[in-house]
Amino acid sequence: MLPDWLAASLAALLRLRDKLPHALLLVGPDGVGKSALATRLAQALLCEAPQVDGDACGQCPACGWFSQANHPDFRLLTPGGDDEEGKEKTSTEIKIGQVRSLSEFVSIGAHRGGRKVVLIDPADALNVPAANALLKTLEEPPGATLFLLVSGKLDGLPATIRSRCVIHALTLPPAEQASDWLCRELGIPSADAQAWLAAAAGSPLRAAALADPGQAAAYRLIVATLAKLPDASVLAAAEALSQVAPRAWVPLMQGWVADLARVRAGSHARRFPEQSARLATLANLTGLEAIIEFSRWLATQSASVDHPLNPRLFCEDTLLRYRSMFL
Ligand SMILES: [Zn+2]
Repeated sequence: MLPDWLAASLAALLRLRDKLPHALLLVGPDGVGKSALATRLAQALLCEAPQVDGDACGQCPACGWFSQANHPDFRLLTPGGDDEEGKEKTSTEIKIGQVRSLSEFVSIGAHRGGRKVVLIDPADALNVPAANALLKTLEEPPGATLFLLVSGKLDGLPATIRSRCVIHALTLPPAEQASDWLCRELGIPSADAQAWLAAAAGSPLRAAALADPGQAAAYRLIVATLAKLPDASVLAAAEALSQVAPRAWVPLMQGWVADLARVRAGSHARRFPEQSARLATLANLTGLEAIIEFSRWLATQSASVDHPLNPRLFCEDTLLRYRSMFL
C-alpha cells in the first residue's frame, strides 16, 4: 500500500491525469517514497479501468502486466540496466545505450492505444552522454509519452534536463505521522518507531529498512563497532564493519559523527540518542574542528561507497582517520 503521506501527492497528480506535462520530475529527500509514488502513478496512468479518483484498479490486464514488470507501454531506466554493450549490473550510472534503446519505444504507437510511460529512477544517475541523448526526446515529446523522472538531488541534474520538466516536490511527513505509519506497517511499539526514525534522520522508508530484522542486526553491529572506538583496535573494528557494505555503514557513520559534533557543541544527540553517554565521553576526547574535518573528508568518499575498490581497505582507512580524532 502506498504510504499515507504520499496519498495527497498521488491524488493531486491524478487530478491532472489528462493535463499532465510530458516530463514530470519528482524531487524529495531520501526515503520519502519517490519511487513508490512514481511507480504507482505510472500504473494508474496505464490502468484500463481506473477507479473514480483515477487510481489503478489492480485487476485489469494492464495492472496485471504492470505488476509483473511486463507492460508493453512502460519502460524503466535504472542504473545497471540493459546496455547496448551488454548487461552491467554493477554500474551506478544510466548510460547512453539505455537511453538510445528507448528510441523505438518512443517513436512507435502505444500497444494498448493509451499512454506510454518512461520512468527514470534515479534521474541523477544519468551520465553526461545519456543526459544529452535524452534532451531531444524530452524537448520534442512524441505523442502520449510521459517521462517520469525521480531524483533526490536537484543539483545533481543538468539544468538542461531540469528545465524541460515540471517539478513536483515531496517532503518528509511530520514525525508523528511517520511514527504512526511505522507502528502500523511494522507492528512495532511507538518508542521503537521513534528510535528508528531518529536513526534514519526522519525518513520513514529508511527507518523501515533499518528496522527490518536483517538490517537491524547490521545497524546494531555498525553502532556497536563505532561506539567501541577508539578503545578497540582498528583492525578488529574493520573486520567487524567490513561484513557490511560501505553503502550501509558510511551513512550511519556520517550520522554518528554529526551527533558527535552536536554533543561536542553542547547540544543533544539526534540520530543516536540512546548512545548519548558514549557520545559525551567521546566528545570530551576530541575537538569540534577535528570532527568537522573528518566529517568533510567522509562526505567526499561517496565514490568509494558506490565503487569500493577494496571495501576492507577503505574501511580500515576510514576507521584509522576516525580514531586519529581522539589521539
Ligand atoms: Zn487496472
